Amino acid sequence: MDLQRRKLLAGLAATPLAIAAGCGETARYTQADALALDNQRIRDREQAGKGPFGDQRYQGYLGLSDLPYFELDDSGTLRCVVADLPPVLDIHAHLGMALLFAPRIDLQARHERALHLLDWEEDDTEAVLDLDMYINGNFTPSDLREMRFEAVTQLLWGSRKAETHTIPNLIAEMDETKVTHSVILPVDFGLPFGDNLTDHFMQAIEESGEQDRLIPGASVHPSDSEAPAKLARYAAAGARMVKLHPAMGRFFPDDEAMFPIYRACDELGLPVIFHGGRAGIEPEAMHQYTLMRHYEGAFRAFPNVQFVLGHAGARDAEDAITLATRHPNLWFDSHGQGVTMLARMLDEIGPDRLLFGTDWPFYHLASALAKVLIVTEDRPADRVAVLYGNAARLLGLS
Ligand SMILES: [Zn+2]
Repeated sequence: MDLQRRKLLAGLAATPLAIAAGCGETARYTQADALALDNQRIRDREQAGKGPFGDQRYQGYLGLSDLPYFELDDSGTLRCVVADLPPVLDIHAHLGMALLFAPRIDLQARHERALHLLDWEEDDTEAVLDLDMYINGNFTPSDLREMRFEAVTQLLWGSRKAETHTIPNLIAEMDETKVTHSVILPVDFGLPFGDNLTDHFMQAIEESGEQDRLIPGASVHPSDSEAPAKLARYAAAGARMVKLHPAMGRFFPDDEAMFPIYRACDELGLPVIFHGGRAGIEPEAMHQYTLMRHYEGAFRAFPNVQFVLGHAGARDAEDAITLATRHPNLWFDSHGQGVTMLARMLDEIGPDRLLFGTDWPFYHLASALAKVLIVTEDRPADRVAVLYGNAARLLGLS
């Protein structure tokens, strides 16, 4: 087999197509690790609604209009109606992804609305959005099947949903929810071709004229010996943050092969946002890469680099809190966590390292915003810090 074919097959095997890759122990992933994830899932579901905020179940995204923060307008669109909201900066958003063979998405196109990967705007009286558990616990088995199918289409022939993950659609949803700024994060999957989202997203932001609101991020992969040079180029072109995805990229964050990337981020003053922790819905073969203990070597070796854990460690949030108490250069992206856990994070790591994130277009922006508003209801200074102040400090915005 020629090298190109071998690289292609290796890339494909490592993508979401490898869903049935199986589990089993590896040198860095034990049976106890797998068990801890199962237990977290059970506990999270059992304890939902029993915390300090009580029952937090809503009928899909539109049901969030039961909260005082949102209303449905005449056209049935959910709108944020908080009058004295500070600026809101979303540290974790994406645009439509098309990889490998999938045709490029027109990121300037306007569609009626963005089709979220967990999509609940259609009349769905069965939809239950519980804000007091990890967000993907709301997926039904059919939601999960659909999401996996979408992930495959994003690699092969293009995804119907991803086509709607455009700049005009994001801006419209930001306006509806009073989100003022979004950091747009590409992901470098380390595929052999069709994998250059950083340039695609950066160009699209420039073409859109929305540079005041959309802040470009960059991504690289450790298999690329040019990664440090690319980061310098991206930083010069305006990138403010670097997204690294250990699960999709199949690398351990504490691997020394990563260190040239962290060194470049240190020199360029770029914070790193990791996909952090096990989400629990990815192929099990990916779980080993995102255990919290596999990040700590990076935090320790590069104390001047500011690291953000996407999803605040996801289902490994307990371990993430322990790490944050040890490493002052570790910040959390609020996305995904339930309200009880978010309140705990505010108390245990303090209000200064928690950042508002949404992981759009997986979910509606309002679902992440609602949680921060609930948790900061009686904490106005913390609300300003989480929604904007901390991110402005991290990104060096004035
Ligand atoms: Zn993400």
